[in-house]
Amino acid sequence: MVHLKALSKSFGAKNVIQDVSLEIEAGERFILLGPSGCGKTTLLRMLAGFERPDQGTIFIGGEDVLSLPVERRPVGFIFQNYALFPHMTVYDNIAVGPRIRQTPEPEIARQIGDLLEITHLTGLKHAYPGRLSGGESQRVAIARAIVNRPKVLLLDEPLSALDAGLRQGLREELKEMQETLGITFLFVTHDQEEAMSLATKMGILEGGRLLQIGTPSELYNHPKSPYVAGFLGAVNRLSGKVLRQDENRTVVVLDGGPEIKCTAQSKRPPGQAVSCFIRPEKMTFRADGKNHSNWNVINAIIVEKTFLGNQTLYKTEITQGQICTVPVKHDSHEEDTLSFKTGERVKIFFATQDVILFDQSDTPKRT
Ligand code: ATP
Repeated sequence: MVHLKALSKSFGAKNVIQDVSLEIEAGERFILLGPSGCGKTTLLRMLAGFERPDQGTIFIGGEDVLSLPVERRPVGFIFQNYALFPHMTVYDNIAVGPRIRQTPEPEIARQIGDLLEITHLTGLKHAYPGRLSGGESQRVAIARAIVNRPKVLLLDEPLSALDAGLRQGLREELKEMQETLGITFLFVTHDQEEAMSLATKMGILEGGRLLQIGTPSELYNHPKSPYVAGFLGAVNRLSGKVLRQDENRTVVVLDGGPEIKCTAQSKRPPGQAVSCFIRPEKMTFRADGKNHSNWNVINAIIVEKTFLGNQTLYKTEITQGQICTVPVKHDSHEEDTLSFKTGERVKIFFATQDVILFDQSDTPKRT
């Protein structure tokens, strides 16, 4: 449905989008995730026709859209805060686009009537935006953006200005609405939780480059770079050197101490400096059933304990400077059997398959 090929864009000396290629299938909710300033809005603006790329091509629904002006591109746009016109009714807000295109009024009335029904807004046809709830405003913004039947809906952080509680509910509504309408979404956000909860597929953008594309679980569990691993949630990082490499395993000796085994992801020579990334939730103090070769067990000392209501986070030290956080969930009474004091010696268990290895030269220093 959307096919971007080798897109690049600079503003002056600044390369804002660098060689981005991307394919989005029809009906997908594709979320582009990246920190502030990484080029997300610029990419959307190029699709919508507000900016022209320096290089590359943009195809939407098989059509090369680069030469098309904004009003003829097959896209709808939803901005932060929805940007509804406060002095216009719901009906007139939705009618803005068709009126610009000089669609006859009876045809506009028919189109909007259908849309109001699908978006459950019929009773609010004559209401002004000021009296709408967050969910209703969102639905009006969607109706307005799709009334011209775009092939793709571009959403630029539409939920970012709202408070956390409201955002959660609106995410669900947005998902439902997308599924009902079957329209392709390209949604940008800097919020990783929002991205993971909404996406059918997502891409990580950093410094104008697309680092990795995949489903949320592919990106979370199989990040291809330290940046993607760190951006998508908490991670423990242990440094060491490859001791030996065999067919299925890489054995690493951690700096200052123990050896750990990792399911091999690629061949590395002995002596190669590596970072071992392990998600905190993949580590446990629970020994049962882990007495076999697919598990690592290392000794550590509890250095800090933080109670968070539903879980306690234990900061542990394996050797000097090698720190891991291990959560203990408070469901199923784990806390009763697994409660430790600062200074106590513990054993940490984690599976060989849950260690993600990166060459240290790829790993930015922690700040
Ligand atoms: P945010 O999440 O903060 O909105 P973003 O990822 O959407 O950020 P962009 O708005 O695409 O980032 O901006 C990327 C970079 O390009 C920024 O450094 C920004 O200052 C710069 N930039 C964007 N538009 C222009 C412009 N018209 N002229 C010059 N620089 C620009």
